[in-house]
Amino acid sequence: MSLKKYNEKRNFQKTKEPVGKKSKSNKKLKFCVQHHMASHDHYDFRLEMDGVLKSWAIPKGPSYNPQDKRLAVMVEDHPLSYRNFEGIIPPGEYGGGTVMLWDRGYYEITYYDKKSFKFILHGKKLKGSWALVNFKDNNYLLIKEHDKYENYMDIKKYTRSVKSNLTMQEIKKKYK
Ligand code: MN
Repeated sequence: MSLKKYNEKRNFQKTKEPVGKKSKSNKKLKFCVQHHMASHDHYDFRLEMDGVLKSWAIPKGPSYNPQDKRLAVMVEDHPLSYRNFEGIIPPGEYGGGTVMLWDRGYYEITYYDKKSFKFILHGKKLKGSWALVNFKDNNYLLIKEHDKYENYMDIKKYTRSVKSNLTMQEIKKKYK
């Protein structure tokens, strides 16, 4: 796994996103979700694996309803330090737009094979067991598994940052 693609896509003179470097974390496996309003509104779902954040862009965002299978497109690995990033990516730069740190916490792997990956999330907003199922190339489905957290919450009601408690509009203003 490499952060080469991540670094190639970005001009670090212009964006305040962290430079891609591998790092070790000896504690629990971390995850984060960023709400990213760029050319398309989406959520970036990131799981720590082998010193980087494996990343998926989810156009509709996660859903607590086990019937909803949310498309999650795997994108380039991100550095672990990205899990703290919130702010503005300048217009014209890769991913230009507003980034809210929407959720963060740690996770536990419960099952994996070649096509699917199951885990328990311990976030502020996302909790319980979830699955990522690969169906074609970089395309996955994020699915809420049946447990006591199914239908726990409509995620659209979570409109504030887990880091700053700001809304998208407030983040936009703050970092202008
Ligand atoms: Mn994104």
